[in-house]
Amino acid sequence: MTNLVLFGPPGAGKGTQASILKDKYELIHISTGDVFRYNIKNQTELGLSAKSYIDKGQLVPDEVTINMLNAEVEKNEGANGFIFDGFPRTEAQAEALSTYLESKGTEVHAMIALEVEDEILVERLLERGKTSGRPDDADEAVIRNRINVYYNETAILKNYYQKQDKYYGVDGVGSIEEITARLSEVIDELMK
Ligand code: AMP
Repeated sequence: MTNLVLFGPPGAGKGTQASILKDKYELIHISTGDVFRYNIKNQTELGLSAKSYIDKGQLVPDEVTINMLNAEVEKNEGANGFIFDGFPRTEAQAEALSTYLESKGTEVHAMIALEVEDEILVERLLERGKTSGRPDDADEAVIRNRINVYYNETAILKNYYQKQDKYYGVDGVGSIEEITARLSEVIDELMK
């Protein structure tokens, strides 16, 4: 199995790249943001409890998110591996993921981060907001809050995976194809 965490601030291009890479490497793509949005659209209990956090650009509580992630992994037994997009976002989530994958006899093999400057992120997200229909992309204050939450709560995970020698940084500015090529270089090396 190959389990990858695609990492980076909101607007770094994780979703775009994950949907290309999942086909290229035959991995299951799990985006916690997409799962939350699906649940909000379908007005499930999970969706209702997550919506108020998401609309403000805050993180959904760990327990809710971790249980949801485990259930998504569980649905895909027999997979070649996973691309986790938007998860983990806290150390508690990283620990939970590690414990869960260990119980399945596997692990996170790498965290690959897309590195993009803040002002480019804000521009990209405002542009995406014109068509994404996401309330959290429509308001610049919420966008800036999401980026702050990333630096205050999530960015520490770089350290967490660096300590395990599993962190790879990739320049996230360029064409979609260029960035896919940079990510593929790292993944090809891991899969050798
Ligand atoms: P994303 O689609 O990854 O930008 O996520 C959109 C929103 O969903 C985030 O701003 C959070 O409110 C919530 N969310 C997604 N993934 C997580 C996570 N791993 N932990 C907590 N909240 C999350």
